Amino acid sequence: MVQSSILGFPRIGGQRELKKVTESYWQGKVSVEDLLAKGKELRAHNWKLQQAAGVDIIPSNDFSYYDQVLDLSLLFNVIPDRYTKFDLAPIDVLFAMGRGLQRKATETTAAVDVTALEMVKWFDSNYHYVRPTFSHSTEFKLNQEAGLKPVNEFLEAKELGISTRPVVLGPISYLFLGKADKDSLDLDPISLLDKFLPVYKSLLAELKKAGANQVQIDEPILVLDLPESVQSKYKATFDALVGDESLPEIVLTTYFGDVRANLSAIKDLSVAGFHFDFVRVPEQFDDVAAILNDKQTLSVGIVDGRNIWKTDFSKASNFVNKAIEKLGKERVIVSTSSSLLHTPVDLNNEKKLDATIKDWFSFATQKLDEVVTIAKNVSGEDVAALLAANAASIKSRKESSITTNPKVQERLATIDESLSTRKVPFDDRLAAQKDKYNLPLFPTTTIGSFPQTKDIRINRNKFAKGELSAEDYEKFIEKEIETVVRFQEEIGLDVLVHGEPERNDMVQYFGEQLEGYAFTTGGWVQSYGSRYVRPPIVVGDVSRPKAMTVKESVYAQSITDKPMKGMLTGPVTCLRWSFPRDDVSQKVQALQLGLALRDEVQDLEKAGITVIQVDEPAIREGLPLRAGKERSDYLNWAAQSFRVATSGVENSTQIHSHFCYSDLDPNHIKALDADVVSIEFSKKDDPNYIQEFSNYPNHIGLGLFDIHSPRIPSKEEFITRIEEILKVYPANKFWVNPDCGLKTRGWTEVRESLTNMVEAAKHFRGKY
Ligand code: GLN
Ligand code: ZN
Repeated sequence: MVQSSILGFPRIGGQRELKKVTESYWQGKVSVEDLLAKGKELRAHNWKLQQAAGVDIIPSNDFSYYDQVLDLSLLFNVIPDRYTKFDLAPIDVLFAMGRGLQRKATETTAAVDVTALEMVKWFDSNYHYVRPTFSHSTEFKLNQEAGLKPVNEFLEAKELGISTRPVVLGPISYLFLGKADKDSLDLDPISLLDKFLPVYKSLLAELKKAGANQVQIDEPILVLDLPESVQSKYKATFDALVGDESLPEIVLTTYFGDVRANLSAIKDLSVAGFHFDFVRVPEQFDDVAAILNDKQTLSVGIVDGRNIWKTDFSKASNFVNKAIEKLGKERVIVSTSSSLLHTPVDLNNEKKLDATIKDWFSFATQKLDEVVTIAKNVSGEDVAALLAANAASIKSRKESSITTNPKVQERLATIDESLSTRKVPFDDRLAAQKDKYNLPLFPTTTIGSFPQTKDIRINRNKFAKGELSAEDYEKFIEKEIETVVRFQEEIGLDVLVHGEPERNDMVQYFGEQLEGYAFTTGGWVQSYGSRYVRPPIVVGDVSRPKAMTVKESVYAQSITDKPMKGMLTGPVTCLRWSFPRDDVSQKVQALQLGLALRDEVQDLEKAGITVIQVDEPAIREGLPLRAGKERSDYLNWAAQSFRVATSGVENSTQIHSHFCYSDLDPNHIKALDADVVSIEFSKKDDPNYIQEFSNYPNHIGLGLFDIHSPRIPSKEEFITRIEEILKVYPANKFWVNPDCGLKTRGWTEVRESLTNMVEAAKHFRGKY
């Protein structure tokens, strides 16, 4: 019998239970016991679900209260000193590292004020992990006080009668994905491997003691371009982690890409088996199968962990059969391509989806059945009815007229150089824009959203349910816009925004208004911590039936004399933060979105909104993981789709863009030719990184404070930060803004932080 396995299941709960309980805990509304009990309940639910589906290899330690990489930092004591001096409980240390903590002194406790660790995108996904942050004083050890989470969760499942396979990020990936702390910038995290390995090994020994015979060790960095110095670490590292009775077997797991460039690093490892992602890179099969010795197992990642389309059973079974022919049934395992963390929990929660379209989808819960069915099928069990139903769904999608729109395809063919280039170069546009807006030095602005209060969410829901009339809702939104506008005027911001109160999410909002999209009511996916998104789904050719944002922007401009920024989400981000089609290239989908947004940009301009920000926070995360043609092609079409959207405007119209969350290479954004870009920056301490931006040609706002954290920076803190950046970045190109949007923050924090930021900008104006 061919076995089935899952690499990880979403932990958020079908009704976002985890978000609700963690946020209540942060607000002091529920106790730590309540929080832990809910976690336990969610884990039990997920394990039982997988057991009931018939999955043979069920993961544990895929759960996390915040982020699975951050969990390891707590576990291995990779905790910078600044988090340990307040005597916080381990779980609060975890949250402090994840999101910062600012707490006034009480009679019994001292005041706390720490910023969060840096958060970056997990490979090319929209999930963010908290970056392990090492210093010369990092002392690896198993943090017994915090408890050995992988061991505890393994035992917890065992108590339920479910034998699981713990998942742990591998030692080399863990170090490689980390960074040096600001006091130890000369430190290369990989150099810590010798110190780290014995501690990592002791964790594995504890797992074995608890009864785990096999662990899933993820080494996803094996799909990146790895320097020889890192590749060469694999052999000795994994030799040290296996081979002795006191240690569990290891299945070395990679996902999201092609490992072929690093095959020599893993080809002689004495692990029990390997897992590869054959959804992304089926072509790697022959090469990776060739490195297996005659005992090692191959876990075939064939059910997509990153998208929501039904797996084609016949195609997938053929693929697995190819593996069986080579290795035999005992050595082949049918699996998801990656953890299912990146997919929504359960399609059955969707009550509003069109039945035809719904039949094309498969969410995490359905994917359990998919791996099991494929495993049964290749084992020779009778699953004919399931195969027939699956074939019918696949055919229905292939032949559906919902997916094609000839008009869109015709217009796509008209895209050429002139449709994707602004009329004159930046310097000439700058002159026109200077005359028009007459902004001071260090112009201040924000990235778009303002706090999405409970009131906003309640009214939006009421409107969606039909409990509030369109007219009343519009009035409500106008009132919100007015509050935001008056606030910005009051504290002296220069370029205003309307605050985005009408938007549930920066991609979903557009998806809902574009043709070619489907959207869910409960398809939440964790983005970071307690922040989840509900990606819309591109099902067909995309077009814009009518203006999407003009009304709100025009209203906002009508109540102020300051310039009002129109606010759009760019084509690449609309695509990356949706579930894309898998039957048409991403380039085609991005260019279609570019055309739809071009019409919106022009409509805004016509309506008098002449500063327009087109956000592309996802552009970096979409970068193919390896250098080469795929990557350079991506950079070309990504930039082109942005320019298609933004180049049809007058010289004096100022195009802004915004990028976040990742190590952005300024060279990658030059080709967008935006007049002003703002970049998430507040957690970048490395002066070399700042230096990289010094020759970015157009204007730049390097984000000055972290909006993922509730803490409030003082005016002095802003001044220090601006001074640091001014050492390398010229004052005449310098915009002053926070990181990202403020929608996840509360008004108190926003009010104070922005006031301090504007005061700091004024301080510098006086000096230049
Ligand atoms: N304009 C968006 C906002 O302010 C940008 C969000 C983002 O960068 N992720 O919320
Ligand atoms: Zn951002």
